[in-house]
Amino acid sequence: MIKVANIFVNIPVKSIAKAYSYAIPDKFSFLQTGWRVFVPFGNRKVEGFIVNISAADATTDLLKLKEIIDIVDEEPWFTDKMLKIAKWMADFYLCSFAEAMRLFMPGKTGLQIKPVYLIGDQKPDATILQVNFYVEVYNFIMLHQPVSLYDLRKNFPEFDIDAIIVLFLQHKFILKDYSVKKNTVNRYEKIVELIQSTFCETDFSRKPAQKNLLQLLQNRKSIPISELKAEKITMTTIQALVQANLIRINERRIYRDSYEHTASQGKKNVILTGEQETAVNELIKSIEQKENKTFLLYGITGSGKTQVYIEAANKVRQAGQHVIVLVPEIALTGQLVSSFKYYFKQDIIVLHSRLSISERNDAIRRIKQNEIGIVIGARSALFTPIDHIGLIILDEEQDASYKQDESPRYHTRDVAQALARIHKAILVLGSATPSVETFARAQNKEYTMLTLSKRIGNIPMPQVTTVDMRAELKQGNRNIISRALKKLIEETIAKKEQVIIMLNRRGFSTFVMCRSCGHVIVCKDCTLPLVYHQNGKLQCHHCDSSDVVPDVCPKCGSRYIKYFGTGTERLEHELRTLVPEARIIRMDRDTTTKKFAHAEILTQFKQGLYDILLGTQMVAKGHDIPNVTAVGIISADSSLNVPDFRSAERCFALITQTAGRAGRGDIPGKVIIQTYNPEHYAVHCGMQQDYLAFYKNEIVFRKQLFYPPYSNLIKMTIQNADEQKALAEATEFVKLFRSSFKDINSSQIIGPAPAMISNLRGLYRINLLIKTNQPAVVKKFMVEQKLHIKNNIMLDINPLNTM
Ligand code: ADP
Ligand code: ZN
Ligand code: ZN
Repeated sequence: MIKVANIFVNIPVKSIAKAYSYAIPDKFSFLQTGWRVFVPFGNRKVEGFIVNISAADATTDLLKLKEIIDIVDEEPWFTDKMLKIAKWMADFYLCSFAEAMRLFMPGKTGLQIKPVYLIGDQKPDATILQVNFYVEVYNFIMLHQPVSLYDLRKNFPEFDIDAIIVLFLQHKFILKDYSVKKNTVNRYEKIVELIQSTFCETDFSRKPAQKNLLQLLQNRKSIPISELKAEKITMTTIQALVQANLIRINERRIYRDSYEHTASQGKKNVILTGEQETAVNELIKSIEQKENKTFLLYGITGSGKTQVYIEAANKVRQAGQHVIVLVPEIALTGQLVSSFKYYFKQDIIVLHSRLSISERNDAIRRIKQNEIGIVIGARSALFTPIDHIGLIILDEEQDASYKQDESPRYHTRDVAQALARIHKAILVLGSATPSVETFARAQNKEYTMLTLSKRIGNIPMPQVTTVDMRAELKQGNRNIISRALKKLIEETIAKKEQVIIMLNRRGFSTFVMCRSCGHVIVCKDCTLPLVYHQNGKLQCHHCDSSDVVPDVCPKCGSRYIKYFGTGTERLEHELRTLVPEARIIRMDRDTTTKKFAHAEILTQFKQGLYDILLGTQMVAKGHDIPNVTAVGIISADSSLNVPDFRSAERCFALITQTAGRAGRGDIPGKVIIQTYNPEHYAVHCGMQQDYLAFYKNEIVFRKQLFYPPYSNLIKMTIQNADEQKALAEATEFVKLFRSSFKDINSSQIIGPAPAMISNLRGLYRINLLIKTNQPAVVKKFMVEQKLHIKNNIMLDINPLNTM
């Protein structure tokens, strides 16, 4: 009987995003779902993933069927659960199965990790040794270890090697390890380990050095020789004990760990606050019952969310299950990493985008080996071979970097939730400023809300004031820094305390505003801010009308009208002029290109080598620096002028998060917000750090305009070298959509409108935005129209950016 494999080829072209059938040759009869193989495709040999295997039937055209050429690994790469999550992503995001599967591969292309076998701790027993071919295989492994499956299969073509290996592994006659074909050389270190666990103390009364070493080993079992040398234990001492057959020297593999230098940092015997304890108990209850449940840990800045994560993770580890901790950007979250390291030590692996290929290999291998209990990383940490997941934590769940902005355009929160469902695990979303969607779900009891409403040690929230920059200009100050902020900086530095200044870059140079009256140039038809384009034109992103940049403000006639373009560099220059005595360190995209640059800057600032940390949104992330008592936020509200329905939410979150950096030590913090919109509720509530008030305002507006959480969005970008053709295709689709979805209370379509980047590499880009409360129906419709496999159309399900 001929077996047929359904295979997705690993080529990122949408039009071939379907499974192809290949015959499985006899020599690969062991193949199963989840294997990576090489197959002929056109006249090429490409990598493919097996997603299904069946017997050939009457409908199979055997003559046309090509054969699998070779295997990539020596065991399946994908587990059933990995395939399930990839399938879920393909269905939910309308991407190809192969695209989703590629996420699970380090570097996305053919990394080859292969299992090898070594002789294990258990000696084979007599019954096994009676079977001739078992002995043959066992002896072969003993002689040639480490042995690959490939070698075994080649040497014993007549045996069912796969079955024998399974049997040997079960009985621990052999061990499994992984080796990587290329690029990696494993590093080993020499260690000393005990042979006998007890020794007679009196024998060593005259040999204190040897006695000392034996005692050290009593506690630790094995110690690297390098470490012993540092403790002034000589090789002579070690050799003497080796001679006496009490200890032996052995080798152990060293794993690369770029977080080696991250000191573990934490507090011993933390006594949880009442609120923390309540939250932890709720989580533990679900962990014990192995429920699949989503929690929102809504805790203000400095309320001790990390400790809650740690306690929950601890519980899950005790139950023998694994944990995934997701953070927005690993470079900016050294603090969470060091706290986890403090509690879980070697049980953790930290994945981040700047790992070298060999570091990533080591990581994946250790996860496959079940050596790792906790994976910490940015969104890619979802796609490791970690199994038996009991808990997934998503810290700062509102952060925009959780959305991948290339296909598949997934959101970490959605995928984490699907993964938790598959593993029957719990998901904890943590934030001081949850996304409006998440908070709404918690309000509807879809998620369970856990609240931390007080700062640890009852430290007061910082005192926040706003400065109206229109008044500032009126009174003759044309600087970026207001007089009040200058004064606050000077006072803070004089007291040897530190300042963080955040310049909100988002939205800059996208709109035109009058600096005298704050008036923003808007579309005459839709009243949304017009977007400034490179060609000098202003364009409306909702109705496509355009305008020129005026010379004077149409409202007050002032000449101080311009598009915003202040950078951190210019701000640094101005700061140096205004406050010459200050020592300033800048953190933005330019100063953080080097590996670990973020961590270095933060460490130096924390050590007090600088007075002011100045930067973009990066400085607003969860740092905990007790000596920072003052925070300045420059043009906090510039993001309000981005014509996107989430602009208020972003503005509010940014103000609250940045302000939350102030006064985390014993001295209360002071925050100054510079704004042109002090009366806007996002600014006003941000100033009060009042999430609930913000939410109440925002949710009304969302309901009125049928935006999430009241609808789901699908963004469609149509590209064409010919602008008219792109527009025609879009218009055509709008017509079709409106005739298919007539009830505007449940589905609407907006556009066509030029994309924010309206022309990319010679292609015009037109956007359509669908709002619907029947996302599954709309998606089905789009698939029927074959939109998901058109090469000139990009679909973004639940986009974060609607422009
Ligand atoms: P959040 O992430 O909510 O902003 P953190 O987790 O950074 O807050 O906690 C703020 C500070 O409080 C940290 O320095 C942390 O070590 C400390 N902390 C947390 N819980 C406790 C506790 N129960 N007792 C004492 N200190 C705590
Ligand atoms: Zn308009
Ligand atoms: Zn004006």
